Amino acid sequence: MGRVEAGRFAAGLPVVCHVDKETRMAIARNHTATHLLHHALRQVLSEHAKQSGSHVSAERLRFDFANPTELGADRLRQIEDMVNSKVLDDEPVTSTRMSLSEAREAGAIALFGETYGDIVRVMSIGDYSRELCGGTHCERTGQIGLFRITRESSVAGGVRRIEAVTGLGVLERLRHREEQIARLCRTLNTQDEDLLRRSAELLDDIRSLQKQLQQERQRAARRAASGGLLDGAEQIGRARLVLATMEGGPAELRSAADVLRRDNERLVCLLASTEQGKVALVAGVSDDLVSAGLSARTLVGEAAAIVGGGGGGRDDLAQAGGPEVARLEDAFERARQIVRQKLGE
Ligand SMILES: [Zn+2]
Repeated sequence: MGRVEAGRFAAGLPVVCHVDKETRMAIARNHTATHLLHHALRQVLSEHAKQSGSHVSAERLRFDFANPTELGADRLRQIEDMVNSKVLDDEPVTSTRMSLSEAREAGAIALFGETYGDIVRVMSIGDYSRELCGGTHCERTGQIGLFRITRESSVAGGVRRIEAVTGLGVLERLRHREEQIARLCRTLNTQDEDLLRRSAELLDDIRSLQKQLQQERQRAARRAASGGLLDGAEQIGRARLVLATMEGGPAELRSAADVLRRDNERLVCLLASTEQGKVALVAGVSDDLVSAGLSARTLVGEAAAIVGGGGGGRDDLAQAGGPEVARLEDAFERARQIVRQKLGE
C-alpha cells in the first residue's frame, strides 16, 4: 500500500523498492525466535502447547498457546534458557519448498484452520524445528543475539501468552532497567548494592511513623475526651479534683487518668466505670501533688475498700476494683474527704 505524494502512478510503471534493513532484521530476529519458542514450549510443556496466535513486530514478539495453567518462574526460565542455547548454537535456518503431503510426512507443524496451497514453504532450524511458514527469518539462529521473556499472562481460558524481545530489544530493555535503578538510587540517595537494604529501612521507618501517628491521634482523642472530664472538676484549695464515671474498661480509665494527670498541674482524679456488675477505679495525681504528699495508690485503695475490693499501683497512677456498684457514690465521697484532708486550705 502506498500514497502518491507527487506525480502520478499507474499500472505498468517501473517501481524501485527499498527494504528497511534494520527493521526487517529486527522482525526476522523476533520471527525466528518465535519458532524457537514454539519448539521450547513443546519440549517443556508437551505437544499440547499448540500455537493459537502469534504477532511479530520489529519491537517484540507475542505467542499464544494452549496450556491450562500459569507457567511459573521456573518453567519460564527453562524455556528462555532453551531458546538462548539454540541461539548460541548458531544453527542454520533454511527454507524449502515442497508439496503439502511431503511437508506433513517430514513432520512440519502446520496451523490448524489455515488453508495451504499445494506447494508450501517449510522453515527448518537445525533438525528439531520444522514449521510451515511464509515469514521473514534470520539465516542463522546466532543473529537473534539474545532472547528475553518479558511477560507471561492469560488471554482466555486455557490459553496463555508469552511476550518477549530479542537482539537490540534486549539491550534497550536492559538500558531502561539500569536507568530506572540509577534513578531509584538517586532518589533514595544510595548505591545499587544498598538499594534493597535502603528500601527495607525506609519501609520500616514508614511503619514506625504510621504507628507513632496512630498513637498520637489516639492521644489527641483522649485529650479531647479528658477536656470534657475537666469541665466537671471541683476546686479543693488550690487543686482540682475530677470524680467521674465513664465508658470503657480499666485500660480506657488508665489512659484517660494518665492524660489528665500529665496535661494538668495540681490535678487529682478518680475515674470509675461499671461493667458486668463490677466497679473499676483508676486514680491519677499530677507530679506536683504527688510531691505535696497525695498518693494515687492510697486514694484508690480507700475508694476500693468502700466498694468491697482493693488494688494498687504507683503514687501517680493506681488502679483498683470492687463488686459493690451501688456504693460508687460513697467511694467518690471518701476520695473527696481524703483530698480535702491533704490539700484543703
Ligand atoms: Zn513463522
